[in-house]
Amino acid sequence: MSRNTIFLTCSIVLNLLLFHSWYFHGEWEQSWTKSATAEAEFVASISCSGHGRAFLDGSIVDGKPVCECNACYGGSHCSVFLPECIADADSGDPMFLEPFWLKHAASSTIVVPGWHRMSYEFNDDSLISKELDAQIRKLHAVIGNAVTDGRFIIFGVGATQLLHAAVQALSTTNHPSSPSRVVASTPYYPIYKEQTEFFNSEDYKFEGDTSLCNNDNGCKGNFIELVTSPNNPDGQLKKAVLQGPSAKTIHDFAYYWPHYTPIPALADENLMIFTLSKLTGHGGSRFGWAKIKDEAVHQRMLTYMNLSTYGVARETQLRVLKLLKVAVENEGKEMFNFGYQTMRNRWRKLSKTMSLSKWFSIQELETQFCSFSERVRGATPAYAWLKCEREEDKDCNAVLHSVNITGRHGSLFGAESRFVRLSLVKSDDDFDLLLKRMGTLVSQENNNDGINKIMTHTNEFIGTDKFTEPLIVVDGVTNQFGSLNDLVHKLASLENLASRDL
Ligand code: PMP
Repeated sequence: MSRNTIFLTCSIVLNLLLFHSWYFHGEWEQSWTKSATAEAEFVASISCSGHGRAFLDGSIVDGKPVCECNACYGGSHCSVFLPECIADADSGDPMFLEPFWLKHAASSTIVVPGWHRMSYEFNDDSLISKELDAQIRKLHAVIGNAVTDGRFIIFGVGATQLLHAAVQALSTTNHPSSPSRVVASTPYYPIYKEQTEFFNSEDYKFEGDTSLCNNDNGCKGNFIELVTSPNNPDGQLKKAVLQGPSAKTIHDFAYYWPHYTPIPALADENLMIFTLSKLTGHGGSRFGWAKIKDEAVHQRMLTYMNLSTYGVARETQLRVLKLLKVAVENEGKEMFNFGYQTMRNRWRKLSKTMSLSKWFSIQELETQFCSFSERVRGATPAYAWLKCEREEDKDCNAVLHSVNITGRHGSLFGAESRFVRLSLVKSDDDFDLLLKRMGTLVSQENNNDGINKIMTHTNEFIGTDKFTEPLIVVDGVTNQFGSLNDLVHKLASLENLASRDL
């Protein structure tokens, strides 16, 4: 090797070393996310036995974040099952999607530095991220559930805020003597009534069930019909009932996603509302959007947003943008398949249990062609709409309480109290406990049926309400049993005897 070549090689190596040291230790170095990353990963590494989670903003004990346990679990690592605990199937908190996000932690994490979008507005003076608007349009195009071309999109603090903005925007103002009549088909999402009544406007009044005031029975005035499809609570796909120039509609499509329903067609309504909560499970991020055809209605809803919250937090918009990018990855296959499979398994398990019952029934839903999955699909509703069939079980939620289950009372949905809504969208822990307790209820019913049958062959039967200490008296001899099952077995053998004797 010549002296020149040695000299050139040494010079290149030296330059590379200098560049490396400057790049990694000089001004190009970007290390300000390191401590935030370490903190986030430390919290994520805290073990809560699969029945809870530690959070960055959770309580600190002895300088360390502690586990927040799922309902019915306790102990410092959530490893203790609390057997007396109520199976709470009341709220529609879609935590069933949490395992998906745990698996996709790397692709769904965002970094929010202290200087991130501090301004009230974006550079173009709007309150809406153009990228997020585009991402939402892309999402609808991938799923094929709703038209976006030629629609205005506005963001809200959850669908809850948008619902009120929409009612307000569609109502006839300055007519205190003839306020717009807000209606929905029973059973309806309770917030429609509660919100309209709470805000107590002169411009609109809640009037209850759509059928009480349809176009045929001479009802007069301007109507705003809230159409929920699939419906909360019963999962049915719905169409507007009222037609004509005096009827305006708000389509609440909170559940119009492949997790909860086959997608039979592209929705093309005047005012459609969607929410992140039921789409990705992030109820706590408080984000929803409305797609609006009419420019004047769009302007009125914008005014509402400006005067109530002045838009949605920029941190939320950043997070939603990231989440939706993950949601549409691989043409939406991963997230929507996960959502669909989870909901399908839950519905199948519950349906199987309920098929053994005569005292309780759940709604029937049609199989339909789903344009997203390109095949005929069965139902996967977010809620079971449970009915107590026995004449005497007028308060169905009270019947469920007897086996430590609580659901949402049918009367809140404008229906009879013999209906209860059971949430199927909560965590695996919540669903598993609900299924177990429903199984207990149904087996009590079947045991009871057995007893009724056998009792016709025995002389006398004494039981307590809850069958805690079952007793039977046969030919004056009292027999006491530890459990209902023991009693039923005994009765079965007695029945054989009795049948032969008779
Ligand atoms: N509409 C329906 C039918 C709902 O079930 C819900 C939530 N349970 C909402 C709207 C409100 O959604 P958000 O969490 O976005 O306020």
